[in-house]
Amino acid sequence: MKRATLAVSPQPQRVFGLGIDEKVQWVVADVIGPRATMTDQMAFGTLAIDVAGSSHPAIDIGAAIAEALYSLRDERPELFQGVAALGVSTIGIVKQHALLSLPRKNFAHSSGAALVDFSEVFEDFFSTAALENLTVLNDASAKALVEHNLAREVSNPDAESTLHLMFDEGVNGGIIVGSRPLASLLNPEMGHIRPRLHPSDYDFDFALGQQACPVHGDCFEGIASGARIRHSWGAGHAETDFNISDLPLRHPAWDIIACYIAQLCLIGTLTLSPTQIILGGTVATGREGDEKSYQRVQKTLWPLIRKKYADLNNGYLFYPEMAADDFIRPAKVTADANVVAALQAARLGPFPEVQNQPINLWTTGRVRVIDNAKR
Ligand SMILES: [Zn+2]
Repeated sequence: MKRATLAVSPQPQRVFGLGIDEKVQWVVADVIGPRATMTDQMAFGTLAIDVAGSSHPAIDIGAAIAEALYSLRDERPELFQGVAALGVSTIGIVKQHALLSLPRKNFAHSSGAALVDFSEVFEDFFSTAALENLTVLNDASAKALVEHNLAREVSNPDAESTLHLMFDEGVNGGIIVGSRPLASLLNPEMGHIRPRLHPSDYDFDFALGQQACPVHGDCFEGIASGARIRHSWGAGHAETDFNISDLPLRHPAWDIIACYIAQLCLIGTLTLSPTQIILGGTVATGREGDEKSYQRVQKTLWPLIRKKYADLNNGYLFYPEMAADDFIRPAKVTADANVVAALQAARLGPFPEVQNQPINLWTTGRVRVIDNAKR
């Protein structure tokens, strides 16, 4: 597909993002148009809110974020000046401007009321115009947007749709069709589909699965997440960053987890027929920032995923893109991915007309900073 050239204002737009997972990170950047580099006017940091470690019940996460933002503004008022758009990439169930629940027992409203209404949280800090340019996505969808645009930028310029599956502490999927993350009433929650059990998993302990997904126990999140791997096979490893790459090469977990990842890949393919599938998260790309872990997962898990995917499909669905060796490919942004995703979500506001254009990406991870001006 030929790319259209669009006229874009050369004026930089300041965007402010929040990435919410086990920690809450903020990011501020000045972005210029669709292909321009993030300028060096970019900063990020972490708010003193521990989402993962909070125990029952009563931290009001919205109030905690607002309070931390007040402190940040007292210290660095310049970060809040001239912000034109806002973005949030968060774990949990997301509806438009609101976070409905976090994946912890203690962070859900059964009434469906918003746990955090980001319009309200940001109200005291930013202009009405900025609030109108607020984009809130769950992390799987926001990271899908990052990977989709990055693929178009560097490796797969014709990618028109991306299925991004995240096998991390939880499991979820984000979908880009055309240019925007798919979201209807809510962002998709693919991680809570139930898989067919691997034969070695027929006696899967439902209660153990509930440690990963308290709601379903044996959904993909319950049975194929980093949490499940740690609880099933990480015995003796108290550290929370136990990773599948720490297991011996002949361990049965490789085959079991590959089976589940392949199943979700096929479910996504049959539903969406994406141009590409991107797998991210610490199960699919190893421990964050650990090259050895990444390589071990690539060499051990990935061939199994591809083989099982082909076996499950059994030659049924076929279109040319599926023939590419890297139809299923690893996520490129593996470090600070959530804050990069928040930044990308924020870009949707000021540059809606160029969403379908490749971006230039700032990140501290596997992908280096790309400077178009130097090309
Ligand atoms: Zn579930």
